[in-house]
Amino acid sequence: MRGMSWIPDKWRRRRTPPGASLPERLYAHFPGAVMLLDAHGVVLDANPSVAQATGHAPASLVGQRVTILDEQPLRGPVSRALAECVQQRSAWRGLLHCRHADGHRLYLDTLVQPLVEGPHDTLRLLLIQHDVGPLLEPAIADRARLGRLEAVVAGLPGVVFQLHQAPRGALSFGYLSEGLSALCGLTPDAVMASPSRLLDRLVGDDREALSNALAQSSVSLEPLQLAFRIEVADGVRWLEATASARRESKGGTLWEGWLQDVTRRKEAERRTEHLISTDMLTGLLNRRAFFANGEAVLAHAARHGRRVPVAMVDLDHFKVLNDTHGHAAGDVALQRFATICRDSLRPYDLIGRVGGEEFALMLVDSEPEEACSVLERLRQAVADSELVLGGETLHFTVSLGMAFLAPGGDLGEALSRADRALYRAKRAGRNRIVGPEAVT
Ligand code: GH3
Ligand code: MG
Ligand code: MG
Repeated sequence: MRGMSWIPDKWRRRRTPPGASLPERLYAHFPGAVMLLDAHGVVLDANPSVAQATGHAPASLVGQRVTILDEQPLRGPVSRALAECVQQRSAWRGLLHCRHADGHRLYLDTLVQPLVEGPHDTLRLLLIQHDVGPLLEPAIADRARLGRLEAVVAGLPGVVFQLHQAPRGALSFGYLSEGLSALCGLTPDAVMASPSRLLDRLVGDDREALSNALAQSSVSLEPLQLAFRIEVADGVRWLEATASARRESKGGTLWEGWLQDVTRRKEAERRTEHLISTDMLTGLLNRRAFFANGEAVLAHAARHGRRVPVAMVDLDHFKVLNDTHGHAAGDVALQRFATICRDSLRPYDLIGRVGGEEFALMLVDSEPEEACSVLERLRQAVADSELVLGGETLHFTVSLGMAFLAPGGDLGEALSRADRALYRAKRAGRNRIVGPEAVT
């Protein structure tokens, strides 16, 4: 197109006179808005369709800058398109967000065409716009829905995720919602770019536990459910992943689910577990917990082919102590014995109160001679201890029976043997250790 000098004044009316030429009819009836602008964007002429497209009467626009259509008149997209067209002296085409005369947003497919007839002619711009809002409506509605959904997901107290595992095992996140930052201080983008940023923060055996759970779920396609610990800036947090699993077309696995912070729940569980496994008077393991933990220790020892030393301990003449000094004094003696046990044994040895004044011990990773000397030190420490009660100083002693539990053996049976050894220790005069290997 070369200039607009062919447009006569009379064309500014909507109706074309009878006998109007094709260009006249085209201009009047062209379904898009057509405007002629000077190089500063001032409207020199506007066709009738401008009214329909922009809500402005064509005549009212003449003499005004067309940037009146911009949402922000000085920096809006119309200003930028015109500036680019003038600068480059080439056509600009694109979708512009504009403002209708009544204020609502318009989506106008826009062409800005520079018009120069000769080297000395003034630059004019031809602006042609089509309202494509109706065409875009479904996409705009979809985008709004997606925006709302993303806002909801971002506000959830957890993380929505999509995790892929390639047939060779490599893990990658297809999606992680914004909540990840609050959960562990890592942004979704960082973890999607490099999953190890998250996975390397799993604590202890939990990384292996996650790999195992994924491997199982990937084979069975059963839902994944796993709680694991992760290092964060202020300590360690418990997260729980819950996800459905499905096979991907190329043989990989896809999990879609939910990651949430379960630290509080885990702490409550730990407190409850502590309560139900602890003897209230001494703070030692109760009978149930001693046996439950003992089985785990045995399984570990059996894997390494080790024998485990066990012992039964009973306070000597405890009835007399109770009868002479009162039940409260007996309680203090039981507590003192618990303290001496904790001081004499290692933190991972098991000490359980299995009866009123009867205790069971399990020495983890100890050789027989070592176990004998540990128990002898314990016996001596009890004998040396003094209970000062009501101005009186009391002493008490314990007798111990020892046994060794072979790999794959039964804990109850080994404790019965230790109990029989204990009986022999009592018979032999108390305040001593009797066992298969050592007698003091
Ligand atoms: P032996 O040297 O043969 O073991 O004599 P003993 O007196 O210690 O044995 P016995 O089994 O006859 O007595 C155990 C006593 O322990 C009886 C019971 O009243 C007391 N006892 C059990 N549980 C508690 C407790 O929680 N607190 C106190 N103070 N005494 C307890
Ligand atoms: Mg007893
Ligand atoms: Mg006793």
